[in-house]
Amino acid sequence: MMSCWVASAQAPDCDFPLANLPWGCFTRADRAGGARIGVAIGDQVLDVREALGHGFLAGLSASVQSALRCESLNEFMNLGTTAWKSARAEITKLLSSDERALQDHNKVADIVVHAKNVAMMLPAKIGDYTDFYASIHHATNVGKMFRPDNPLLPNWRHLPVGYHGRGSSIVVSGVDVRRPMGQTSATDDGPPTFGVVRLLDYELEVGVYVGKGNAMGERVDIAHSREHLFGVCLLNDWSARDVQKWEYQPLGPFNAKNFASTVSPWIVTLDAIEPWFERGPVREADASANLPYLVWKNDFTFDLQLSVSIVSASMREKNMAPFEISRGSYRDMYWTLSQMLAHHTSTGCPMNAGDLMGSGTVSGTTPDSRGSMLERTWRGTEPLQLPDGSTRKFLDDGDEIIMRGWLPATANLPRIGLGECRGRILPAHSAQIAF
Ligand code: CA
Repeated sequence: MMSCWVASAQAPDCDFPLANLPWGCFTRADRAGGARIGVAIGDQVLDVREALGHGFLAGLSASVQSALRCESLNEFMNLGTTAWKSARAEITKLLSSDERALQDHNKVADIVVHAKNVAMMLPAKIGDYTDFYASIHHATNVGKMFRPDNPLLPNWRHLPVGYHGRGSSIVVSGVDVRRPMGQTSATDDGPPTFGVVRLLDYELEVGVYVGKGNAMGERVDIAHSREHLFGVCLLNDWSARDVQKWEYQPLGPFNAKNFASTVSPWIVTLDAIEPWFERGPVREADASANLPYLVWKNDFTFDLQLSVSIVSASMREKNMAPFEISRGSYRDMYWTLSQMLAHHTSTGCPMNAGDLMGSGTVSGTTPDSRGSMLERTWRGTEPLQLPDGSTRKFLDDGDEIIMRGWLPATANLPRIGLGECRGRILPAHSAQIAF
């Protein structure tokens, strides 16, 4: 195992060892100008712009160096696989224990800074956001609640169902989320009322950023999907269930999903995850074959462990530790990242660098692996007991949801993680709206 001269990167429970090197964007209080591109290493951040300014990473091509001086990762993402691999190799070298140039440099404290001294931003300009529905367990659970006789619709095993979301509503971990207002109806046929959303929920998802885009009219062949998929993050697709129930037919989610979605700040590249790839996912023996454009013999999944915890306002006042409410694995998904991209572009839909695709809620087979409050409490019929003595059917004001994800250590590699995705619910602004 290659060692790193940043001591905290060697800790066994660290999300960001040398084997990871996730990309992100941040600002520094001690530097003028906008956001900078960086790489997380242990509890530190390599400020890539600063490193370039001191002549490091000079082995990279001019186009890669120029892209890495930008205020977001879009340009770098759009350069494609060769650029991503060359930057990863150069940064690995720079941070390796046997490489003295940076660790002995008199400005090292300006180039590698503590994560607590930077403010993380969105890593890319997210032009478009699409959310899928790729877990058969989630789709079946939700289907059972709303259509007991027919939980999975006929199309579900043939295509990754999705909808076009709202890129402008994506916020980075740590930004508070305002409880929305919405139109809801107590009965299936109305009449509706407008007011504060009551059934506010989270959805545990994995997001994948598009790297190199495709031109309009050009399909991405599933066997070439890796050239267009940059890396993954955690995604909390905040959902207003009472709004969703009334509005979703016949065109799918709209206002129930457009007020906020939270992403973790670091993008863990598929190059970093590749050692964990497994052929799959394994389908049921009687599952119908997919159409050829969705089939790739090298398609992959990975055992990304996913955890959701909650801190209520009273738990926070009492200084109580976050309470874990679910634990699942990305391996349980039915549709893969490559299938989502191949299907999305199968019409010739142009994807751009920085576009985000959400996997849909990651739920497994057991109750404790369900990735939303809707499923975890079975639509509020089995409330969760929190350690402060309160119960939850859905989210209260002041609740904070914390998501984490990691790939377990192997014989040859340390654990790598996605960091944290957190967001806290603020009370609705109901009093300020005349209606
Ligand atoms: Ca979702």
